[in-house]
Amino acid sequence: MTVSGTSLHAQLASLADAARSSDLVLLILAVLGLFLVIHLALDVFVLRRRRRRRESIAQESRMAAAADLSAALARARDSEEVGRVLLDTLNELIGTDHSGLMLIDEGGTEARGLIARSDGVDLDWYPAARVDLKSEVSGVRCAYETRTLFLVENALDSPEVNAELIERAGLKSVAFLPLESERRMIGVVSIGSTTGFLSFTSEQLALMNMLAAEGTLALERTYSLAALERALERERLVSEISRRVRSESDVDRLIEVALAETAEALGASRCFLRLGDPETPAPLRLEWRQEGLDPIPADATPYLSVSNLALRQGRTAAVADIETSPELADESLGGREALLGLGSRAVLSAPIVLFGAVIGVLAVHAAAVLDWSDDDIAFIEAVAREFGMALYSANLLEENRRRLEQQEGLLAATEAMAGELELDSVLTRRLAGGRADLFRALSTRDVLAESVSQAIALLDADAALLLELEGSELVAREGSSYGLEEMQGERFPAAISMAGDLVYSRRPLVIGDLSLQERLETLDPIVREGFQALLGVPLIGSDDSLEGVLIVYSHAARAWRAKETEALVSLAANTATALANAFLYLRVSFEREQSIAILSSVADGIVAVDREGKIVLWNAAVERSTGISSDEALGRTSVEVLRRELDSGAEQGERSISIKRGGTELWLEVTEATMRDPADQIAGKIYTLRDVSTDRFVEQAKSDFVSSVSHELRAPLTSIYGFAETLLRRGELFDETQRRTFLSYIASESERLTGIVDALLDVAELDSGDLQVELGQTDVAHIVREVVEVARQGESGSNGHEFVIDLGADESLGAEADRDKLRRVLVNLIDNAIKFSPDGGKVTVAGQKRPGVVELRVVDEGVGIPAEEQERIFRKFYRGSPSVLRGGTGLGLFISRGLVTAMGGRIWVDSVEGEGSSFVLELVSSEAAGAKSELPSVGE
Ligand code: ADP
Repeated sequence: MTVSGTSLHAQLASLADAARSSDLVLLILAVLGLFLVIHLALDVFVLRRRRRRRESIAQESRMAAAADLSAALARARDSEEVGRVLLDTLNELIGTDHSGLMLIDEGGTEARGLIARSDGVDLDWYPAARVDLKSEVSGVRCAYETRTLFLVENALDSPEVNAELIERAGLKSVAFLPLESERRMIGVVSIGSTTGFLSFTSEQLALMNMLAAEGTLALERTYSLAALERALERERLVSEISRRVRSESDVDRLIEVALAETAEALGASRCFLRLGDPETPAPLRLEWRQEGLDPIPADATPYLSVSNLALRQGRTAAVADIETSPELADESLGGREALLGLGSRAVLSAPIVLFGAVIGVLAVHAAAVLDWSDDDIAFIEAVAREFGMALYSANLLEENRRRLEQQEGLLAATEAMAGELELDSVLTRRLAGGRADLFRALSTRDVLAESVSQAIALLDADAALLLELEGSELVAREGSSYGLEEMQGERFPAAISMAGDLVYSRRPLVIGDLSLQERLETLDPIVREGFQALLGVPLIGSDDSLEGVLIVYSHAARAWRAKETEALVSLAANTATALANAFLYLRVSFEREQSIAILSSVADGIVAVDREGKIVLWNAAVERSTGISSDEALGRTSVEVLRRELDSGAEQGERSISIKRGGTELWLEVTEATMRDPADQIAGKIYTLRDVSTDRFVEQAKSDFVSSVSHELRAPLTSIYGFAETLLRRGELFDETQRRTFLSYIASESERLTGIVDALLDVAELDSGDLQVELGQTDVAHIVREVVEVARQGESGSNGHEFVIDLGADESLGAEADRDKLRRVLVNLIDNAIKFSPDGGKVTVAGQKRPGVVELRVVDEGVGIPAEEQERIFRKFYRGSPSVLRGGTGLGLFISRGLVTAMGGRIWVDSVEGEGSSFVLELVSSEAAGAKSELPSVGE
């Protein structure tokens, strides 16, 4: 632009010069030149734009064509269809009349015609067309090797094309178009004209490339689809074989089918199985072959070199071409000739390995060169594995069968040889073997079931039935199989025909063929449909009574042998005895249960031990008194359980032993008796244990009491006697005041005596149940104040007890009680409170109303009562250990409880040892008593 701008300027300048020089011609020329230049520049500009537009239109139409093609290809099902769509589109868009597609194998050795199209029809010769990519000259090979488009304008003269193919197709000009996928070259398209010579434009070439790319994609897709389908199909096949391996017992049939299927899946002409290890020639076991092929001769196995290789190496051998494979160069494998002689060209062979050892080999032969794929290898290996499994289980089965046959054969042989004698011993053996089981059955039901199953086994019969005789009826009790088991409970009159014969004759009923029976009664309960022969025997009990019948049946007619009848009679006898036993057992166990029930419920403790001294019975009473459960005691000895020997060594006797229970001592009176078995051997011992702790305690307490009462009585008596004596003999020596003091001592000591005697009388009354209480509305608060006041006065003050009355807001506490008796109870409780708090402290008497009751508490801060003694202190004569030192009769609380109970109340203690005690007294409140008496009593 700058250049033209400058020249324009120069021209104008020269125009001015010319005008000035008036050289018009020059001026005109200059103007014309200028216009010419401008026109040319414009032309170039317009042309460029047009070309660009044309190019973009071509580009667009190529894109559109490619899009159309890819849509059409997407609908194509297989590679042929893909080829057809691709070739037709090329012909149409490029304007050619011939196109063909050759596919290249994986190894790149050969191109094979897939499809060719000429004027919209397939060329039928084309699929058979082959081009050797290694040795032959061809346009296909050229495109394949250079991986680029190869153009031949004059095909007739070109040395670079396959003349034969060109001639066959009649091509004048041709372009070879490589189809290259991401992985490899998959094919070559040839496209050309048969009518005239062509030179392709660059636009056409670009279009071809684009369409070829689309076609390649589509072909790839059909390949992977086909591969997927093939893989699925093989997967299905392997699992089908595997399923059959696990279900089919005829291994040869299984393998035959599997060989055929494997051959088909791999496109093979032969498929065979050889069994044996690498050291042997491994003979051919089974072979499948295509129709028309001869079987592999038996003596050919040493020359089956590929399967020999797989056997030797223990891994899969894949030979694509027997002729060229270097692996087969090793002559010791068997060479190539034999294989080629069988019409095979490629072999794939996988060893069959079981538990690490090679046991055989599976091989497929293909008639043509075949590059076995990874999938093929995986497939044959999977089938080989399944064959291994099948052979393994078949082996086991075979071995098993052989053993069984041997045994059966042996048995049959011995039985046959020894004849009757042996039969007898077989029957005897079976009878003896069953006897123990029969007698082991504990219930009658079990005996019947056992008897029926033994009857079948004994005579190798088909079924058996046992009927029991009840009055004049036969009742089906137990049957086995063929509907007999459903008869259970059915009843029949025993008198009818054959059953009747059996029942009344009491002799075996032997029928070898029911169809020959003249008076065959279908109603006869013992004749069952479907049986041809029967043998029935009576069941005779120990007292010679008929208990029932046992019948065995056979589906086939059968000559029952005498020995067999005898054996069944013996079984029936055993059954009868076993039944009696079971019945006895039932009774014994019932009796045993009964005695256990009795022993467990008796109040005395019962312990039984077996002859080893192990405890076999420990009843509830022993559990209660010893606190040891029967679970803990059973199976152990008395020494282990009680730390005492119960056995005195004597046959029988009585004695007392003491055992520890918790912290306390327990006294047991043991009576023992020896149990003997029928053979007069010691079977065990039985001990009766009576808890005599209380009796013993009372005895002890009584003797303590006698001594303590004597002591208690003696003290006041001594004082009374002393003072009385003094006054009598030396009365005059004392003045009035002194005499009064002596007399008051005598009076108070007499009162103490009276108290003791009263207490003893109370106890006597309580014991005899004669205690009388006079219940009435009683002001408890008033009594409390009185008693506490007396105690306060009586207290010398030296110990410094402080008395507190706490009756709450409600000062009058009305209760249903006996005034005197209540007073005595309170006195006793307060006395105890003082006595057992030697260091003084507070004694509180508290009272309060609670629903329906009046509650009194006597609380001290004294020595307290150990927990384990808190219940015992209410017993007669019981004195806690420290109180022995403090005197007392041990009757106070016993009497108190007796009195309170008689008044309809309760008394108990809460205490912590060392901190003090709180005696609680509960009496029926006046309101509650009133409400009760208002209710009309029954009978009024
Ligand atoms: P005694 O008349 O011999 O005291 P009791 O029957 O009144 O007999 O009491 C029986 C035993 O209860 C006493 O020996 C003592 O061990 C115990 N006991 C009663 N009251 C108390 C108390 N307040 N504190 C501690 N121990 C008590």
